[in-house]
Amino acid sequence: MTSKKVGYAIAIIILLFLGVFDYFLPNQNQKVSSQASTQNTNQIVMTTSTVTTSTPTANTKISEPISNALNRVTKKSFGLYVTPKNSPVSPEKFTGYHTGVDFETLPSEQNTDVPIYAICDGTLTVKEYASGYGGVAVESCKINNADVTVIYGHLRLSSITPKVNENLKAGEQIAVLGTGYSTETDGERKHLHLGIHKGKSINILGYVQNKNDLGNWINAVTLLR
Ligand SMILES: [Zn+2]
Repeated sequence: MTSKKVGYAIAIIILLFLGVFDYFLPNQNQKVSSQASTQNTNQIVMTTSTVTTSTPTANTKISEPISNALNRVTKKSFGLYVTPKNSPVSPEKFTGYHTGVDFETLPSEQNTDVPIYAICDGTLTVKEYASGYGGVAVESCKINNADVTVIYGHLRLSSITPKVNENLKAGEQIAVLGTGYSTETDGERKHLHLGIHKGKSINILGYVQNKNDLGNWINAVTLLR
């Protein structure tokens, strides 16, 4: 091969590469601009990859378990490590990583019924009185095509109207909150503890001692946004 031919061959290879890049680059830019408005290139890349891997989660919403839900998350968020000494509530009897999200009530709601709604289409699997909760309901449903069990804690047990094994519709009222500092809430303030446990097995633990175990739970706030 003459050096001229080698030169042509290299030129053709370079042109092919440029063509390939031209083909892909505009598409990627479109994706980035539609999914992220961040200026920093590194952040754009990170945001884009996050969106790509978590698209089902980001697109799936749950119904509000309580009116004005997101504004009520003021004390115990998902994963918060709580001890009787550092807790945002007192008295505190628990120690561990919070497996759910707490939705608080207003002073004006202490003597009125505060309705609690199913967050997904599913089946009521448990209603019982449990230590630490008072009345608790558990619903089995699917979120992002994955089985989960949803724990609604501190309910007035007698107000849980659906029967066990009955189907629930997202947004359907299932109960009202128990009266604060009574047996209905097992002595806790009037609030909703909402836990979402991965899989079909029922686990109503409100706290775990090992941080890694939080991986078995889903933060409801991420599904409400
Ligand atoms: Zn809680």
